[in-house]
Amino acid sequence: MNECIFCAITAGQSPATIEYQDADIAAFRDTNPQTPTHIIIIPVRHIADLLGATEADMPTLGKMLMVAKQLADKENLNDNGYRVVINQGLHAGQMVDHLHLHLLGGKELGPIA
Ligand code: AMP
Ligand code: ZN
Repeated sequence: MNECIFCAITAGQSPATIEYQDADIAAFRDTNPQTPTHIIIIPVRHIADLLGATEADMPTLGKMLMVAKQLADKENLNDNGYRVVINQGLHAGQMVDHLHLHLLGGKELGPIA
């Protein structure tokens, strides 16, 4: 079993509701959703956090945003809008040490902080 829960999901070792998967990117429903749509988007390759990303990861980082945009469209979030978030480190409350975007939408979100 993979020690990283998100790596375990992409390896098929842990269940998840997968919304998107290719060689570079995976996306799945958050198990503790904060909004009606709450999807986690990750690089398949384990990168611990944004600090661990390098210039070589630029295409993957860009693709993560494009997948977020595609999934937001699929979830019918374009009209009312949505939020894409990265929690980096302690003060942001990062809990899972595998870089991820949160796609949040389906209700009014209010100010960022
Ligand atoms: P963060 O605070 O940015 O690290 O957020 C981690 C997110 O991952 C939280 O919203 C958790 O609910 C979510 N999460 C943790 N474990 C799983 C899992 N096995 N499947 C889906 N989402 C998860
Ligand atoms: Zn991982």
